[in-house]
Amino acid sequence: MCRSIILWSKAHRFLHDQQNLNRTFSSYSDLHSFVQPIYSNFDVNLHKKKFYPKMTDVKKDEKCLFCCIKDKSTEIIFEDEEYLAFRDIKPATSHHYLIIPKSHMTNTSSLLPSDIPIVKRLVEIGEIILKNNSASISDARFGFHVPPFNSIRHLHLHAISCVNEMGFISRLIFKPDSYWFITASTLIEKLENSNENEKGN
Ligand SMILES: [Zn+2]
Ligand SMILES: [Zn+2]
Repeated sequence: MCRSIILWSKAHRFLHDQQNLNRTFSSYSDLHSFVQPIYSNFDVNLHKKKFYPKMTDVKKDEKCLFCCIKDKSTEIIFEDEEYLAFRDIKPATSHHYLIIPKSHMTNTSSLLPSDIPIVKRLVEIGEIILKNNSASISDARFGFHVPPFNSIRHLHLHAISCVNEMGFISRLIFKPDSYWFITASTLIEKLENSNENEKGN
C-alpha cells in the first residue's frame, strides 16, 4: 500500500514535470507505457493495481550455501533472471528438485502477503521442471520446511514426484502440513488470510 502511494506520487511529479498534467489516457496500457520509465525497477500491473518489486538486484549472503550454489559443482537445471533450480542431494524419489529465489530470503516465516507471487512462481517452475523430466504433476508434492526444521536458511521449494514412490522416512520428512513441512498451497492460503487480517485492522 505504502509503496503504491510513493509510486503514484512519483508518477504525478513526473507528469507535472513533463507539463502533461492535462493529458488523458485512453486505456490502462496507454498510461502504463507513459509512466513505464519511472517504474523501471518495478513490475507494474495496473490492471490489478498491484506493484510487485522485481528482484533484479540479487541480494546475496556470502555465507549462504544456496546463494553461492552456482559457484559449486551443482548442476543447475533451471535458471532465469530471478530463480534457480537443482536436484536435491538426498532425493526422496527419482524426481526431487529444489527451486530457489536467487535473492537471499531466509524461510517461510519471513514471507509477507506481497510475496505470494514468489511462492506461485516457485511452484510454476517446479511444474515446468517435472514436465520437462516427464514426471507426474498430479502425484507431486510442492512444499517448504518450516523453521526451525529447515536445514538451509535460504527459502527453497521442494518439488517431489511421484509421492507414491516415497519411502517411510521421506513420507515423514515431507508430511504435508505437519509442524515441519508446509505445502505451497497451504502457505499461499495462510499468506492470503494474513492479508485479510491486515485489512481488518
Ligand atoms: Zn541465501
Ligand atoms: Zn528443505
